[in-house]
Amino acid sequence: MTSNRIHNFNAGPAALPLPVLEQIQSELLDYQGSGMSVLEMSHRSKWFDQIINDAVARARRLLNLGDDFYVLFIQGGASMQFFMLAMNLGLEGKPVNYINTGTWSTKAIKQAEILGKDVRVLASSEDRDFSYIPKDFAVDKDAAYLHFTSNNTIKGTQWARFPEGQGAPLISDMSSDIMSRPMDVSPFGLIYAGAQKNIGPAGVALAIIREDMLARVPKNLPDMLKYTTYVEKNSLYNTPSCFVIYTVGLVLKWVEETIGGLAEMGRINREKADMLYGFIDAGDFYRGTADIDSRSLMNVTFRLPDEDLEKAFVEEALKEGLGGLKGHRSVGGCRASIYNATGLDAIQDLVSFMKAFEKTKG
Ligand SMILES: *Cc1c(COP(=O)(O)O)cnc(C)c1O
Repeated sequence: MTSNRIHNFNAGPAALPLPVLEQIQSELLDYQGSGMSVLEMSHRSKWFDQIINDAVARARRLLNLGDDFYVLFIQGGASMQFFMLAMNLGLEGKPVNYINTGTWSTKAIKQAEILGKDVRVLASSEDRDFSYIPKDFAVDKDAAYLHFTSNNTIKGTQWARFPEGQGAPLISDMSSDIMSRPMDVSPFGLIYAGAQKNIGPAGVALAIIREDMLARVPKNLPDMLKYTTYVEKNSLYNTPSCFVIYTVGLVLKWVEETIGGLAEMGRINREKADMLYGFIDAGDFYRGTADIDSRSLMNVTFRLPDEDLEKAFVEEALKEGLGGLKGHRSVGGCRASIYNATGLDAIQDLVSFMKAFEKTKG
């Protein structure tokens, strides 16, 4: 019954670990003796209480979070966080600092501008089509925060090392690389991620917020747009995306128990990316689009000699059971998104196909 499944290289929504889908399937009709599906149960029930608490506890353990961090589930995706973070954490009369590394950073910047924040973009890689991560920049002394996008899903770049806040708390959009490698959360005031790339299906953003940030939340915001509401109500102020939170919990369980944690997850992700980039670099038929020191371990972007070949590549790959290799509609080319749930076997099959395609078309 799983034999029709393709290797899924979609950028998001993206592949989920097969054992997670199988567990969902096995308990879809009767969740652990409750006599109902998670799709049907009250978000105030003891079963759902356990589901959300388990998901939070796993996120805390995986990222080694101290008591000064809260784990929240918020609807509206990463895109809502673009303005929610600026409304909540952009201090009155202080500049907010951003680094622009592509489409998503640009959108985050725009939302802060709409809100009338004193936005300063410290550095941008737009001069070379966002193909690299900027290196030198000075954070404003009184900056409320420094915002950056840790992994640029569309352009295929990633911060190998996070920027220094230089006194300002870091805020990061980690939608496409959260839980892909170990990290030190201590310099971060806020981390947020749409679930649908690396940790679940679409429908929530995971937000990890440091306690001292909560004092910044203005009183005159609607309750649904205040981080404090989510903290005080354990993300249950209103009906949350129950089924999505349940699935995120299962994905985090898989990372924790089946993979063995973020150090091992990071090692596997490195091995996968090295294999694919290694193959791309070994010839000149395929050409990576990001600077080598800025390459993403999650989204591998590449071009073929011309657009007709790229079109044929994507179509023929799908016939071989390799889906989702078309680049983002705004940039063209090809992209293999190789998130946590994409195994080494998928990369091996992709590389074999790439070799064969080059042989017949190159
Ligand atoms: C996909 C993506 C977004 C948008 O997420 P939504 O949940 O659809 O709003 C934002 N930032 C990054 C880095 C992404 O990859």
